[in-house]
Amino acid sequence: MDRSKLYRRFRTLLIANRGEIAARVIRTARAMGLRTVAVYSEADRDAMHVALADEAVLLGPARARDSYLNVDRLIEAAKKTGAEAVHPGYGFLSENAEFAQACYDAGLVFVGPTADMMNAMGSKSGSKALMEKAGVPLVPGYHGDAQDDATLAKAADKVGFPILVKASAGGGGRGMRIVRSAEELAPAIVSAKREAKAAFGDDRMLIEKYVDNPRHIEVQIVGDSHGNLLSLFERECTLQRRHQKVIEEAPSPTLNPAQRETVCAAARKAAGAVNYVGAGTIEFVSDGKDVFFIEMNTRLQVEHPVTELITGIDLVEWQLRVAFGEALPLKQDEIRLNGHAVEARVYAENPTKNFMPSVGRISTWRLPAEGGGLRIDAGYREGDSVSPYYDAMLAKMIAWAPTREVAIERLNRGLEESDVRGIVTNIPFLSALMTHPKVRTNAIDTGFIERELAVLTQASQVPGELELCAAVAAVINGEQQAAQSEANSPWQTFGWQPVGRRQRRFAFRVGHGPEQQVVLNYGSGPSTLVIGERELAFSIVAKDGGFDLTLDGVKSSVAAVITGHELYLRTRNGRFDLHWVDPFGGETEEQTGADKIAAPLPGTVVAVLAEEGAKLEKGAPILTLEVMKMEQTLRAPYAGVLTSIKCKVGDIVQEGVELAVVEPSNE
Ligand code: ADP
Repeated sequence: MDRSKLYRRFRTLLIANRGEIAARVIRTARAMGLRTVAVYSEADRDAMHVALADEAVLLGPARARDSYLNVDRLIEAAKKTGAEAVHPGYGFLSENAEFAQACYDAGLVFVGPTADMMNAMGSKSGSKALMEKAGVPLVPGYHGDAQDDATLAKAADKVGFPILVKASAGGGGRGMRIVRSAEELAPAIVSAKREAKAAFGDDRMLIEKYVDNPRHIEVQIVGDSHGNLLSLFERECTLQRRHQKVIEEAPSPTLNPAQRETVCAAARKAAGAVNYVGAGTIEFVSDGKDVFFIEMNTRLQVEHPVTELITGIDLVEWQLRVAFGEALPLKQDEIRLNGHAVEARVYAENPTKNFMPSVGRISTWRLPAEGGGLRIDAGYREGDSVSPYYDAMLAKMIAWAPTREVAIERLNRGLEESDVRGIVTNIPFLSALMTHPKVRTNAIDTGFIERELAVLTQASQVPGELELCAAVAAVINGEQQAAQSEANSPWQTFGWQPVGRRQRRFAFRVGHGPEQQVVLNYGSGPSTLVIGERELAFSIVAKDGGFDLTLDGVKSSVAAVITGHELYLRTRNGRFDLHWVDPFGGETEEQTGADKIAAPLPGTVVAVLAEEGAKLEKGAPILTLEVMKMEQTLRAPYAGVLTSIKCKVGDIVQEGVELAVVEPSNE
């Protein structure tokens, strides 16, 4: 194929993706003077990437296969807007050779490798055969064509247990099973094949030696259409959950300079085997000593920013320049490694509920400002909705510093300063990871998160003295703000002092934990707070998003959000979720009791099984929800009359939302 036809200068770029990566590509494309075209589904009409682009084209309904995976609609969108090139981002069609070919056939530049290169590297088996020939070290295993049970069983036996059964077409950890003994093999193959068939339409399997307690190391490479190929150092992505990366860093803290050079040379050899053009990643597993090739990704990766921060290279800019047909601007020995970068993936999910995705509207989106070594690649803004149709990654937070220790510290501070509300996020979990001593000392392997899950997902911490005082301050601050509109309110300033001393009692609890009491003394003289035997001098000064709290002469900044009786605080000790037990607020068990007919988790209403006005026995079914592809029926908590049903079939409901009301009968 004539490469001058494949790669040439263009002025308008269509980004065939959504979320943070679409926003990220638009940012660089625009800086390079290109016109940008976004595409979107019906669920993404108001999405951030649509707002950022110069033009945007509706592809179709929310489901990915009707929109972001619809090749014809994408090509049509390019034609309609005069786009001359397509950037596929990651995920969706980014590694789909037919899409790359369809772009070429339609006269568009595909920002990435050719369909032939993708075909050669796209399947794990095919790429392994190639790597074997090129002399790149592989994990021992079987990647042949024969797929019958006997062949696979014999291969597994030869490799020796434990082994990994992997879908050749696999990605995202799907179609992959660890098998520890011969008896487990047959059922594992059946279920891995079923998953692979459903996910990729291809159920070919390969078998690999399972490297125990491995690390994941990968090398960024970039090739141009003039035969130049560079490696941009390695990343380590060992912190994974269910084979999906959670934290990535560059360079790998595990490799010494000699090992670094070995793995980068192996990666260049691997990419060189297909004369690779574009940005790509060669992935390896390592037992800490040697590295073994596992697969190549023929696209930009989620974690590319850590490489950008240690090399100072904008990888999207390089992708676009390669697509223009330019030669790479640097030589291998001009690529320098500077400092250390760490990235955390911020997801809309609930780590304390088995990482269940969380959908809904983002009511608060406060992330720290970029700068000072912090970078944020976000795909969402305040007011945006997270829909159940796509990957739930909201943003990436990336920190750079001269050393790994400081980069981790900066990242953690960025996480601690973030406040995202309306949906549940994994931010506290990420923060727990970044502060884990074993992460700090790099004493990790790919099974680390699973083993430490209980520690990493600990429910809200127990508040100490500072937090209890901050909770009182948050309540008072909230009341002052509410009173601000009322003229002549005595609460307008906290300095208002009636004659004599007054007391006010507060009680707070975490979840269903015990109540903790605080007494506020105010009136003439300085205000104090009493907790148990301790009495502390106390004052507050309100500021944006919280207040400065001074306790016995020590001032600290506290972020606070108060919604009804629920308090969210961030102090120097971390994050705290507290419930204010208000003696005058009409606190009743009804509000929190188990009698409420509410969605236990976010889900979809799939059936309504009773009618309004019906008399129900205790335990009678009322409606069925589908939660994570599993059905769950909500039942009457006691005998009574179903006075109202607050949802209909097809509704997507948030966790905790009341769906029906049963009035208990008196009999
Ligand atoms: P996918 O394409 O589905 O992401 P990969 O082949 O990239 O699958 O593997 C995903 C993760 O699984 C790797 O990052 C690594 O942690 C683990 N893994 C893959 N192969 C092996 C192996 N042979 N031994 C141990 N762990 C492995």
